[in-house]
Amino acid sequence: MKRWFRLFIVSVFAIAAVSLVVIQLIQTQRTFSISDNMFNVSVNNAMDEVISQIGSEVVQTDAHRASAFSYQELDSLIAEELLINGIDMHPVVGLYDGSEGSFLYSSDPRREEDLELSPYRYSFQPVGIVSSNQFYIILYFPYNDIFLQPGTRVYTYMSIFLIVVIAAMFFISLRTISNQRKLDQMKSEFINNMTHEIKTPLSTISLACEMLSDNSISQDPETRANFIAIVADENQRMRVLVETILQSAKMSNKNFRINPKPVDINSLIEKVQQSFRLTLSNRSGCIETHLEADPSVIEADELHLTNLIYNLIDNGIKYSTDAPHIVVSTATDGHHLLLRVQDHGIGISKSDQKHVFEKFYRVSTGNVHNVKGFGIGLNYVAQVVRLHHGHISLESEPGHGSTFTVSLPMRG
Ligand code: ADP
Repeated sequence: MKRWFRLFIVSVFAIAAVSLVVIQLIQTQRTFSISDNMFNVSVNNAMDEVISQIGSEVVQTDAHRASAFSYQELDSLIAEELLINGIDMHPVVGLYDGSEGSFLYSSDPRREEDLELSPYRYSFQPVGIVSSNQFYIILYFPYNDIFLQPGTRVYTYMSIFLIVVIAAMFFISLRTISNQRKLDQMKSEFINNMTHEIKTPLSTISLACEMLSDNSISQDPETRANFIAIVADENQRMRVLVETILQSAKMSNKNFRINPKPVDINSLIEKVQQSFRLTLSNRSGCIETHLEADPSVIEADELHLTNLIYNLIDNGIKYSTDAPHIVVSTATDGHHLLLRVQDHGIGISKSDQKHVFEKFYRVSTGNVHNVKGFGIGLNYVAQVVRLHHGHISLESEPGHGSTFTVSLPMRG
């Protein structure tokens, strides 16, 4: 999908979704205001009826007569009239004496302050009759009931729900589009890197084979051994590379199982270390080992453990700008074996440390330093550690190097 077309689709969708939400909000607001007016009219009608039934008696009497009312009767009369007018609610009812400035009665004395502020006040004074007695019935509808009347309530909830659904769908679609784009980018990067990574050892091997087949060169045992070492190292590099890609894909499957057997990790490290002889001598680097784990035999999958060690050392070398200096150490800690791979390379910033174990994640400086890779090595390492019920941690400081510590249980 072309960029402009994607932008066009997103913009149209955004405008449509925002317009829909705005229309919905306006509509809801209008429904509220209509229903608000209807509510007020209904309350007024109900109260007219209440006043006409009991009002004349109150007007002709004084406060003492007013207090002779059966207030519970007043409560139920109001509720009844409200129901007749379609309002199924029990408001707080107050009978207010305006000349005294106090309540003669309130159905909930804790709500007297709310009652005083309520706009629903109904005078007992019929039009045209002048009296010093100023009695009011005041109603208070708690919890903003106007908006929560049964009829409006369903529409209110539905509107809110629909707005949330539309907003959620919009963001999910945006995320899917952006993920799709990232995936496309990663795919093409992956193919580019893969071509480079496989072509280089292949041409090195083919060059070494050519040299070996030249009689004049292959006569010298030292030169011969050198070329054979080149072929072996490059072969091992390609093997780990292919293995990492294949196994990493396989490990995504939930049914994937490792094959644990007793493995001596110290001798495994010695073996892996051999594969880097040539690379290290070309870059005047070295691997320092402190293999102090005792016992050093653990229950592990030899193939995956070999690849894990290889990947960590290989990264240490790849991400060192000067002569690589890698320190590999092992130790035992209770029932765990600790494997530490330390380098003095470019290091990883705090914000990137959180992501380096994610599949396809590559720190952008990786490209600045022109280091090729797929971004799956550390993800594979983390998967192997997880399958062995172990733990991996990373300490790193940009410019000073990184230390990866793997802790594996001795017994699988
Ligand atoms: P890659 O194939 O890119 O090396 P990895 O999964 O092995 O993929 O590593 C992910 C990223 O983490 C790398 O691109 C690199 O930026 C960073 N990284 C890994 N190991 C090191 C290290 N030892 N020193 C500095 N950066 C590292």
